[in-house]
Amino acid sequence: MSQICIFCGKQPNSKNKEHVLPQWLLRMTGDPIRVVRFRMNYFEEKLIEFNWKNFTAPACRQCNDKYASFEAEIQPLIEKLTNKKEITGNEAIKILDWFDKVRVGLWLNYYYLEKNKGQISPKLCIDNRLGKKDRFLQIYFLESRHKSEGLNAFGVETFAFQFNPSFFGLRINNILIINGSNDFFISKNCGFPYPNFLEIVENGMLSVSDWKYDRQTSPIIDNLALHKAVLTIMQPIHTEMKYESNFFNDSYLFQNCIDLTNRIGTLFKIENNVLNPIKDLNSFMKYESVIGNETKLIGELIAKVYEGQNVFLSRIKSKKNEAFKKAIEINIKHVEYYKALSNNV
Ligand SMILES: [Zn+2]
Repeated sequence: MSQICIFCGKQPNSKNKEHVLPQWLLRMTGDPIRVVRFRMNYFEEKLIEFNWKNFTAPACRQCNDKYASFEAEIQPLIEKLTNKKEITGNEAIKILDWFDKVRVGLWLNYYYLEKNKGQISPKLCIDNRLGKKDRFLQIYFLESRHKSEGLNAFGVETFAFQFNPSFFGLRINNILIINGSNDFFISKNCGFPYPNFLEIVENGMLSVSDWKYDRQTSPIIDNLALHKAVLTIMQPIHTEMKYESNFFNDSYLFQNCIDLTNRIGTLFKIENNVLNPIKDLNSFMKYESVIGNETKLIGELIAKVYEGQNVFLSRIKSKKNEAFKKAIEINIKHVEYYKALSNNV
């Protein structure tokens, strides 16, 4: 199995190991050399255990240095979140970038960890995935009766995630963050143009057609009704969309893009169940209050990760329908498992 740098996707020249989850995050969440467990390996259904500290992937030294300064910017922002302090729109965009990095890093690492049992060739690397596609993020404050220290990743062990690292959850001490990103994942939600038909063709490339453009926002992703979080944000990004460029001479997109040339939308935020664009990215975003029936057990929150992966897989047509079907069936089991779970995760 050939090794590639998780950042640039090339063979690493001066070889180095990058911690997929940074050291500062491990220190922040407990003993940095502790053992973690993923619930199951999707082929053998056994528990996977490993040491966070050894959770590393190949990287060039140069790339590693470049991303070290990015990590230094992120650490205080994650600390803000765990202290329930508000963040600005621009800070949220940085956090979305970081989640792109972590999500793809976990995906590549799992590929090495599992010795590529899914027979997937890793075309993805962090450089060409960071800030390139639609993305969304939710923050949940966990109740104080939970153990306050800890780091867990959810959804990264599934066949669905191996096929496409679209959706995952990360618990950092007293917060749970659910993050998703993929082609046109929330474009419809934000009133942006979106293809109604997506198909995986040769070489894993995506073929899209039947464009729609409603200019209307909606908080529900397909049929995935999200639980109420203290913060739910979405950002449509069509940087790699080479189709239907005439859509982008439009006043709605003109008003709601922060970079029209690269087709990067502004941040949208759910407030009182309505999705609205954020007008000033330098201002602090108010957290929503989540009370009474809106409060969910952590198992119910985590179940959404697996449901979200299925929503994405169900959206895409593929000649590999059997593999998709299997991935969806496995995920349904995960959803049932987490829904039935009490608060002890
Ligand atoms: Zn590199």
